[in-house]
Parts: sequence; structure tokens; C-alpha cells
Amino acid sequence: MQTTGDQQLLKRINRSVLLRLMQQHSGLSRARMAAQSGLTKSTVSVLVRELLDEQWLVEASPPVSGDGLGRPSTPLQLNAEGRVLIGMEVAVECLRIVCVSLTGEVLSEHEVPLHSADPQAVCTQATALLQPLCADLAARGITISGVGVCLPGAVHDSTGLVHFAPNLGWRNVDFLGMVRAALATAGMACGTLYVQNDADAAALGEYEFGAGAKDDPLIFINCDVGVGAGIVLNDRLFTGARGAAGEIGHTILQIDGPVCSCGRHGCAEAFIGARAIRGSADVARAGHYLGVLIQNLDALFNPKTVVIGGKICAEHPGLLAQAQATVAQYTRQSGMPMTEIRAARYGLQAPAVGAAALVLHRFLRPLSEGANHVFGH
Ligand SMILES: [Zn+2]
Repeated sequence: MQTTGDQQLLKRINRSVLLRLMQQHSGLSRARMAAQSGLTKSTVSVLVRELLDEQWLVEASPPVSGDGLGRPSTPLQLNAEGRVLIGMEVAVECLRIVCVSLTGEVLSEHEVPLHSADPQAVCTQATALLQPLCADLAARGITISGVGVCLPGAVHDSTGLVHFAPNLGWRNVDFLGMVRAALATAGMACGTLYVQNDADAAALGEYEFGAGAKDDPLIFINCDVGVGAGIVLNDRLFTGARGAAGEIGHTILQIDGPVCSCGRHGCAEAFIGARAIRGSADVARAGHYLGVLIQNLDALFNPKTVVIGGKICAEHPGLLAQAQATVAQYTRQSGMPMTEIRAARYGLQAPAVGAAALVLHRFLRPLSEGANHVFGH
């Protein structure tokens, strides 16, 4: 019998249901997966067989008995060795590439200075980084799920076009198309390719690789020369109409305040951005304004977790502590519960690891997989 498109989609949805169960409850047996997913035991059995063959899952040993659902069962878990995700960050001064397991362990990392911000030059450098990594993984029999790329700019959600990346000097660049063409020319197979804004990617990394129940809404604030946020809302990235949601560096915190790079006065970036921080007094002031910014975000989104990352956060740990203290003060005044505010789990690698998480995130949501990806060959 020929399989129709709808059946293929249904199968992908069912597979993603099982993989998402594994993300949250590692060690479930087939019977437990059937009970928790609502799928029949025979469907689960067939799909698990496929997921084992494709190195998404592995059987843990030894089998356990006494789970109340019949014969001894074999616990299943995500395959942390046989299949990987690749993430790449195009930053203003460097290119970072990481290889990450399905469970979020960073297996390898590599960073090189960016020779030139010209899109074609970046593409050539990116391909040169990917080539030895992909060849090595292939030689070891490891499957590459795909490659996620992130960069400091607004990315259109459905086309993947980089609308505007001011710090790279890019406007309407089809970077993904360029990378795909370069990989095809080199005869490399790296799975599906995706592109996303750097703060958005970093938010996904924190979201996908957290243990157990997911923090939702989750906001990742990237503090660097610019200040941007990635927002996960209702299990999806919230990117806005043109991919520019989360540009919180240009929300105004003080009328007639210091001048900002955008030409306005009193933007968050003029207090928190790297150019505003020269001494320890500036760190305390930046932390205080970061707390104000988080308070405003809390009023808008009421996030479960706010994660702070980026170079400024890594270089000045006092920033986070001051922001927490400021928010705690607002919390006491209003009698509202305090939102969790913490440092990025992956530090400066957060965007690159997040780009890798993007590959997994998209795979696990077959219905929302827009056009913002290109299939490898
Ligand atoms: Zn501004």
C-alpha cells in the first residue's frame, strides 16, 4: 500500500510525541510510553523500533520488572552518543561551532576569529569549519540531525531570510541558501539546516535542554554591546511579525536619559550595553537597570524563568546579583511572587548551543515547521 502524505505527517507527529516523552521522562518502557502517549502498544512498538534504528533512542540495560504492566520491560532513553546536533554562531568577531548531544551535552566546541563580515566570506569560513566535523562524525558512524545557525539580526520566521543584521552590515541576506549551496558543492551531508536570531536560539537552548518540565514562558536576555531577548511562549519562539520581537535594548527606561546607538535617549542599551560599562559603579547601575527591564518584562509576559547571558554577564557576575536584588525589591513592594532569574547554563556558548537546540526543537514540532529551513541532500 502506498503511504499518503497525511500518513507520513501523522507518523512524524507520533514519533515526536514519543521523543518529547523521552525528553521529560527518561527510562520509560514501551508499555509506559503507550500509556502516557495514548498511542497503541503496537504503534509504539513499531515507532520505537524505527527510532532505535535511526539512533534517536537506545535501550538501557538491564530490563526492569514489576512496573505493573506485564512482562519485564526495557527502559528507553534518548541516544546521547549515536546522533548529534550541530550549532553555529556567527558573532560579530568570531564563528563558534558546537556539537551537542540530544540531551544537551556539549561534545565538542571550536571558535575562530571572523575574517570578514561579508556574507560569502562568512559562508566559506562556516563551510570550512563544518567539513572536518561532519567528516569525523560520519567516520565514527554518528548521525547528524541537522545544523542550526544563529546570528545577531532579525530573521524572517517563514523564509529564513536575514532581514537586518546591523552589526554584520547585512540586509536581506539568504545566508541559509548560501550555506546549502556551499555544502552541496563540497558534497557534504549535514542534515537539515535552520537559521535563527542569536538571542532566540539561546532561549531555545535553555528551554529544550532543561531537565523535566519546561520553563514556559522563558525569556533569555543577551547582554553584549547590544541587549536583546529571546522569548519562548506557549512552547514556541515568539519572534513577531518581522522577526524583531525581543529588541528590548531599545525600550526606553529613562526619558531624556543618555544617548543610545539608535539615536534615541534613555534606551536600556545606554545603561546595560557594553559601551555603558567602564567601572564597578557602572556595573551596579547596569544591574539596577537590568532589574527594571526584567520587572517591565514580567509585567508583559509573567515569565516562569528569566535567563541572563552574554559577554557582560560573564565578565561581571555582580550584574546578575544586582538585577535580582532590584527585582526582589519590586516583588516585596507589590507582594507578588518572585520570578526565577538565573545565569545562562551554557555561558558564552548559549547562542551556539541554542542553534543546535533549534534543530531538535523544529524536529519535535512537525506541524510548526515553517519554511525556515532547507533540507540537506
Ligand atoms: Zn536605543
